Amino acid sequence: MAVAVIGTGLAGLACAEVLRDGGEDVVLFDKSRGYGGRVASRRREGFAFDHGLPAFDPVDAETITALADLPRWQDHGRVAQPRMNALPRSIGESFCSRMGARITAIDAHDLGLTDDSGAHHGGFSRIAVAIPAPQAGELLADHDAAFAALAGIRYTPCWTLLLGGIAEHTSIPDRIEPESGPLALVIRDDARPGRPAPSPCWVAHAREDWSIANLERDAEDVAEDLCAAFAALSGLDPAAAGYCAAHRWRFCRPERVVPSLFLLSRDARIGACGDWAGADRSGGDARAAWRSGEALGRAMLGA
Ligand SMILES: Cc1cc2nc3c(=O)[nH]c(=O)nc-3n(C[C@H](O)[C@H](O)[C@H](O)COP(=O)(O)OP(=O)(O)OC[C@H]3O[C@@H](n4cnc5c(N)ncnc54)[C@H](O)[C@@H]3O)c2cc1C
Repeated sequence: MAVAVIGTGLAGLACAEVLRDGGEDVVLFDKSRGYGGRVASRRREGFAFDHGLPAFDPVDAETITALADLPRWQDHGRVAQPRMNALPRSIGESFCSRMGARITAIDAHDLGLTDDSGAHHGGFSRIAVAIPAPQAGELLADHDAAFAALAGIRYTPCWTLLLGGIAEHTSIPDRIEPESGPLALVIRDDARPGRPAPSPCWVAHAREDWSIANLERDAEDVAEDLCAAFAALSGLDPAAAGYCAAHRWRFCRPERVVPSLFLLSRDARIGACGDWAGADRSGGDARAAWRSGEALGRAMLGA
């Protein structure tokens, strides 16, 4: 019998790789059509954007420092081109996958899965749940008490602005971290090697408190406000953009983490991993997700 991994973000993919290396057949499930979760890229109207995790490379010092000590990551880090989701896609496509399937229930007896179309999958020998804590908590609410810790973990949201095709302006740095205003980070996003980059693309992340205060607003209204902030910072005119959109990440970063690398049911048949897990109380980031997935995979193999 195969092992099911629910969620194809960094945690799910790391877990799946360890399980496969240990000789298991693995089937991946994700509600999205594409692999990667918050390692997300979007192509629209000739423009390409990385609107989730911004980088694996030294552009993002925090991320590279965090990931550098993971040997598997060093192998994969080189393939995050021309877009960030090239990395998860290259891993995900090597597995048997059911994409576009949101898992709504796990049958604890035969370890079968039900998706949002009502289709049943399985049973499986084991199930790894690699999704954000609030969603995992819902899915695992009626299962083992080991998963109770998921209930209290909230995530901070992040609105992101995607702008493509504004005229070149060489005096603007490729990365701006404003000290005040709605935006926390502005990145020139068309410089990644291998990208055709017909014209400048920008991704801007709204500040956490701004995202919380504006969480339920319409995306078009949010885009308008963030465009105004972008214009004030850059001197560029967003009205001239060939593409403009705001994307809401409801689950961007966990507010706190569970002090454990993963959670496992008493019979070790169901486990949960993700960026919400951090043995040393660090975590809440890309590295934590990958490390948690690897650790759960090893635990499920009995290593
Ligand atoms: C805008 C932004 C900026 C960030 N910046 C940084 C940074 O600078 N440094 C850093 O380290 N981290 C950063 N992060 C966080 C980092 O991207 C995440 O911590 C990490 O990618 C989480 O991986 P994960 O596998 O735990 O979860 P996810 O990537 O969220 O993957 C979970 C997957 O599960 C799927 N899923 C959910 N529910 C179900 C279900 N019921 N059935 C099937 N599939 C389901 C989702 O579609 C998703 O693909 C950022 C994130 C965002 C959004």
